[in-house]
Amino acid sequence: MQQPALTGASALVTGSSRGIGAAIARALAAQGANVCLNCSSEAGLQALAASAAELEREFGVKTCAVVGNVADPEDAKRLANETIDAFGTLDVLVNNAGITRDGLAVRMSDDDFAAVIDVNLKGTFNCCRAAVKPMMKQRRGRIVNLSSVVGIAGNAGQANYAASKAGVIGLTKSLAKELGSRNITVNAIAPGFIETDMTDALSDKQRDGLESAIALRRLGQAEEVAALAAFLASDSAAYITGQVIAIDGGMSL
Ligand code: NDP
Repeated sequence: MQQPALTGASALVTGSSRGIGAAIARALAAQGANVCLNCSSEAGLQALAASAAELEREFGVKTCAVVGNVADPEDAKRLANETIDAFGTLDVLVNNAGITRDGLAVRMSDDDFAAVIDVNLKGTFNCCRAAVKPMMKQRRGRIVNLSSVVGIAGNAGQANYAASKAGVIGLTKSLAKELGSRNITVNAIAPGFIETDMTDALSDKQRDGLESAIALRRLGQAEEVAALAAFLASDSAAYITGQVIAIDGGMSL
């Protein structure tokens, strides 16, 4: 029988206490990866511990759970180090942690602009920088960054979020060029609207409007994004780097 695609690999998934990150952690574990789970709030720790225990039981993999804020470079280093301490290597980094602070640009506070850039863009950079050193030594690595279709097309009321996600695309392409010769691939996923806590806030009217703009006439599921992340983390994606792959039900067509 063939082994699952990521048997024995070691993965760090930021922002994995719920939503897309939790689904990605599960998809990687289902493929045999040992997974380090993360979130920034002590309140999320219980969810992390519960998911970790479930993944160990269901897939027989090893896990660890680390509370840390990706926007803090020291926490990002600690996340990478604790993954290596737990599993010996760091083969896959999924930069999924993200926040929104929506509002029209004219009324947006400095804090709301800065917070979103700090977590979504600088947090992604912090974790990439922390993971790249061990990956360069290993001469292999997979980095998957969560961008958004909003980072490609823009969105009224999300100037901070769209700028952060457009930044993630530039970061992804630059790192792909810097790290390709070390056998490290760096790709971005650009989801459309996915059913999670982040999109729970949509009103019925907003949801109806959105669905009519999506070719497949529905929001996406976290598991659908997770399957793409697991593919990009696998050997089957070894020749894909610097790409931004939209997963949006045809919304951006
Ligand atoms: P959720 O809000 O459901 O989950 C976000 C996760 O990130 C939580 O685990 C949260 O835990 C964690 N997190 C937030 N801030 C930090 C931080 N500073 N450091 C570490 N962890 C943090 O989000 P989604 O699952 O909806 O989104 C996941 C990613 O996908 C995000 O990057 C988002 O921008 C992107 N995306 C989502 C779309 C959607 O429609 N849902 C569409 C396009 C992109 P805690 O609060 O405890 O820190």
